[in-house]
Amino acid sequence: SRVFKIVTIPGDGIGVDITEAAVAVLQKLAVVSGTFEFEFTEKDWSSKKYQERGYYMPEDGLDQLKKFDAIYFGAVGWPVRIADLGPRTDVPDHISLWGLILPIRNALGQYVNVRPTRVLRGITSPLKDCGPGDLDWVIVRENSEGEYAGHGGTTHGAFSHAVATEVSIFTRVGIERIFRFAFETARSRPRKKLTMVTKSNAQRHGMVLWDKIFTEITKEYPDVETDKMLVDAMTVRMTLHPKTLDTIVATNLHADILSDLAAALSGSIGIAPSSNLDPMREFPSMFEPIHGSAPDIAGKGIANPIGAFWSAAEMVRWLGFTEAADGLMAAIENVTEAGIKTKDLAGASDTQTVTEAVCKEIEKVLQK
Ligand code: NAD
Ligand code: MN
Repeated sequence: SRVFKIVTIPGDGIGVDITEAAVAVLQKLAVVSGTFEFEFTEKDWSSKKYQERGYYMPEDGLDQLKKFDAIYFGAVGWPVRIADLGPRTDVPDHISLWGLILPIRNALGQYVNVRPTRVLRGITSPLKDCGPGDLDWVIVRENSEGEYAGHGGTTHGAFSHAVATEVSIFTRVGIERIFRFAFETARSRPRKKLTMVTKSNAQRHGMVLWDKIFTEITKEYPDVETDKMLVDAMTVRMTLHPKTLDTIVATNLHADILSDLAAALSGSIGIAPSSNLDPMREFPSMFEPIHGSAPDIAGKGIANPIGAFWSAAEMVRWLGFTEAADGLMAAIENVTEAGIKTKDLAGASDTQTVTEAVCKEIEKVLQK
């Protein structure tokens, strides 16, 4: 069986709990399936270490990551004060994001962030008429430029008249490649439907370029049905007419926001997965739940690990093991259907109980 080298970065808060849970499930999946093995290496890159050492990643951090087959990421961010970290206890969120997750996405060619949603068996959507299998969407997020390009600056002028700019970058190369990925995704799904999201009424430069290039690329995919939405109206459509959507493509910022909404509509932010992909497969791709470090519930052992497991399933799929990935998803849904759920899903189980239940189900589902 093939051995895959996986590097884990648990990070902060519940990132630590859910990464541990995901590793347990992945180990179980490997043993039961028998066709692949995982060799895990952990990196202690976190806000706590940042406070001790002054950096998240060492200087050669990105090069270290390149040696692995995939990256499994928990969450980063520690914006609140807690006792055990010593005198300087908080890290501003823009420092933590730019210290760890954003440089990885940028340097390793991960220009796509794929965020599927679906109401899993046993989970209740806050939307009426949305049962298991509904809200079956794939949000394709542009992951390398746009509003998170990091361009801009601050000037503290006389009399504290501060001026700050936050400049979005949109390039033809960046736009074409994310559209092609989105069209291929839409084409691979039964409904072959793609909705493109912008704010091109107010944002008249980059978003208008999105519109223009979308019209061009649409011609390459005559079998895919397309439509366009403005992002504000999109939140309404997701909530009131969710069944009219399938594959969705949006900018870095817009898709970030829409995918938290999508997660909440499908039951909880705690179940939603994401894949940061380098479609060229030159570098390792990175898999992480979409939620953050959740300082409000950190250290309590009650974080929902489903988003972490679903992300692990997507990693296994990316590495080429479709049957094992589908088996893991079936195991997860058997557990949620049996009512073994965390508090955010109105259940009473803790992280460990859900994890053990999923491991047991993996045996049942895949050991034939
Ligand atoms: P968050 O996702 O951490 O939490 C939002 C709310 O959802 C909280 O009430 C939390 O308890 C709940 N929640 C999140 N995940 C859950 C889970 N698995 N199970 C149960 N409940 C869950 O978002 P936030 O509070 O805005 O951010 C906290 C920190 O995380 C910040 O520092 C932020 O920058 C960071 N963050 C990091 C990432 C990342 O690493 N990719 C993503 C988002 C936020
Ligand atoms: Mn987010």
